[in-house]
Amino acid sequence: MNEISRREVIGSALAGGWLALGTEWSLAQSTTQPTSASAPSAGSAVDGPYQLPPLPYDYADLEPYISAQIMKLHHDIHHKGYVDAANAAVVELERVRRAGGDAIRTIRAVTDSLSFNLSGHVLHTVFWKNMKKGGGGDPPTTSEIARAITRDFGSLDGFRAQFSAAGAQVQGSGWAILAYEPLAQRLAVLQSEKHNNTGAWGSVPLLSLDVWEHAYYLQYQNKRTDYIKAFFNVVNWDDVNLRLEAARKLTLP
Ligand code: MN
Repeated sequence: MNEISRREVIGSALAGGWLALGTEWSLAQSTTQPTSASAPSAGSAVDGPYQLPPLPYDYADLEPYISAQIMKLHHDIHHKGYVDAANAAVVELERVRRAGGDAIRTIRAVTDSLSFNLSGHVLHTVFWKNMKKGGGGDPPTTSEIARAITRDFGSLDGFRAQFSAAGAQVQGSGWAILAYEPLAQRLAVLQSEKHNNTGAWGSVPLLSLDVWEHAYYLQYQNKRTDYIKAFFNVVNWDDVNLRLEAARKLTLP
């Protein structure tokens, strides 16, 4: 199956699943339970509010910086696992509410699963769109993102150094994230351990870099810093700029 038809199949499957059900998804149609926090599985699709978005390019388009093999496994298996588990958590929470009684005792584990898997879904969705074939370089100096980065980090190089160090120093699995923080209306570089720890509430991710080993190990082995350096050759600054423009419309009362 070529890439285009593969996408059409995925799109059709999504349209025929959750979308066809509208806002009424049925508990009876879901048998998948939330997966453990550390082992996303491909599993079968679970009806629910979240969908695996198609990649906005082909698997090989980010080569030589990120291999097609990594992209296929990362998107089709890992990201899909987070989507399925986030949907399963939503379904399970509804079941627990309906069941009442002792069922509420499972709420901590299911809530933890929702936090982990939904955060993973959000960050991967941003990550795919943050990259493009022929990306990289610097954003236009007149763009909002360039001006904000210069204001809040001193320079583009200063930002890149901080972001890269944040990614390199994540303990275990996690992310480096350039975020818009709406209270101070400033940019911030955050780290996330796993997908959902050590973030900051309200912040909107603009540029996210996955530094889990599944994101680079097949190509870069233990050289995480080489992978981080390569990432800047595929950054889609137009997408980052659009996210900043959208995030700036968010004001917290
Ligand atoms: Mn990942």
